[in-house]
Amino acid sequence: MDLGIAGKRALVCAGSKGLGRGCAMALAEAGVDLVLNARGADALAQTAREIRDTFGVAVQTIAADITTESGRALVLEQAQGVDILVTNAGGPPPGLWSDWDRDDFIRALDANMLTPIALMKALLPAMIDQGWGRVVNITSQSVKAPIPQLGLSNAARTGLTGYVAGTARQVAPHGVTINNLLPGIHATDRAISLDSGVAAAQGISMEQAQANREATIPARRYGTAQEFGAMCAFLCSMHAGFIVGQNILLDGGATNATL
Ligand code: NAP
Repeated sequence: MDLGIAGKRALVCAGSKGLGRGCAMALAEAGVDLVLNARGADALAQTAREIRDTFGVAVQTIAADITTESGRALVLEQAQGVDILVTNAGGPPPGLWSDWDRDDFIRALDANMLTPIALMKALLPAMIDQGWGRVVNITSQSVKAPIPQLGLSNAARTGLTGYVAGTARQVAPHGVTINNLLPGIHATDRAISLDSGVAAAQGISMEQAQANREATIPARRYGTAQEFGAMCAFLCSMHAGFIVGQNILLDGGATNATL
């Protein structure tokens, strides 16, 4: 399917690895030029090179922490006027409900709620002016069904979801859509780090920890960054203009719910 977005320009945050990288690859495959961000310069340069070589699109890289004001300023300097925004950042650490103090919550809110909001505030006006734009926020399945040990993530991402619900309806009249993609477990570094925590806590091997988790997923496997990226690119496509303010779960059926 021709997604109809060749020649457009996208900012993909936290895109050197994992789900962000999957989104960057899929947008590049659709002919979209990229402004690509992550903190580590080496992996970022390597991903950018691979994308240029494979798809022939232009890729600008900005190594910066997107969750800080100074990092965002560097990224936004290069990303003014983009047609597409994909927000993403690392997830907060796990713990118990009583572990976290005010500063922990502020850090999680900064990274996973206030950063995407700041990026939208900066980039939506130009999309509105030109009468077309797409925003996809990478959130988590924890927005639909809480993951008990990820209380910081549950809280911050639900806050972002509430903001998007109202904002998406305010910008839709201008041809701009905002939607959220909710990953269940996907085979990325984040999954390896979560599984190694489980393996250590339960005294089992990584393979066993992964097999145990796969058994809880109706699809009986982890998702891939490639299929996650394909859904992101579709939401950014010409065909997705009527999808507004939705929360789309990609979890292999793991969340047991009718709606
Ligand atoms: P990942 O494989 O660990 O990749 C994270 C990417 O984000 C890397 O490119 C990393 O590069 C970059 N990054 C992290 N923090 C950043 C920051 N502050 N500023 C700029 N770039 C940053 O993670 P993932 O699995 O793709 O997960 C992406 C998001 O989805 C996370 O918020 C995660 O919590 C959420 N999620 C993931 C899953 C899953 O199963 N994978 C499930 C639910 C939710 P640098 O380290 O070099 O900056």
